[in-house]
Amino acid sequence: MNLILMGLPGAGKGTQAKEINKKYNIPHISTGDMFRLAIKEGTELGNKAKAYMDEGNLVPDEVTIGIVRERLSKDDCSNGFLLDGFPRTIAQAEALQELLADMNESIDYVIHVDVPEEKLVERLTGRRICPTCGATYHVKYNPPKIEGKCDNDGSELIQRDDDKPETVKNRLAVNIEQTKPLLNFYEDKGYLVSVNGDQDINQVFEDIRTKIEK
Ligand code: AMP
Repeated sequence: MNLILMGLPGAGKGTQAKEINKKYNIPHISTGDMFRLAIKEGTELGNKAKAYMDEGNLVPDEVTIGIVRERLSKDDCSNGFLLDGFPRTIAQAEALQELLADMNESIDYVIHVDVPEEKLVERLTGRRICPTCGATYHVKYNPPKIEGKCDNDGSELIQRDDDKPETVKNRLAVNIEQTKPLLNFYEDKGYLVSVNGDQDINQVFEDIRTKIEK
């Protein structure tokens, strides 16, 4: 199954991606995670992406499309894939169509996790992540067992730079502007399914499952 997960930052894409990955055994491909890893490892890609990410702006299309092309050619994508955080622009969406056509593949569903804008700021600024294993928490909605420590490995949780209040506003504005044309693009192609993301995590996943197994 070839899937794309869409939604504004904080809509819960990462959480649903993990569930989808477990249930359907397809790799979760997050361009944001790939960039963060590259920055951590200090690679050339990381150096290119860092300045854009620190400002809450998008990394240029040619860089982003390049890493996705490379990732989709890996063996573990032969059963399908779940893209998260890509595409973010029409140019990326069109490049993806071409890329998949070259592979004799196409998209099955674009899953839109829909959450009202006013809820997103609270969700984003309360988010904490484990720098060791990547687990995500929320200070109010999904707190770790011990405050500030990862349940899995006890690491000190951190707030991503782009989850800080001053960056969140810019990130949301950039994303809202860029998401609308993409939703229209995929709706016109008949790929789009929307689920209400403002519910219990398990219920959101149930709704996704029902729609893509129909
Ligand atoms: P995310 O974790 O998906 O919110 O991504 C974090 C940051 O990585 C974004 O704010 C962008 O700077 C960059 N990024 C991730 N995916 C893309 C993409 N598809 N196109 C451009 N920039 C991206």
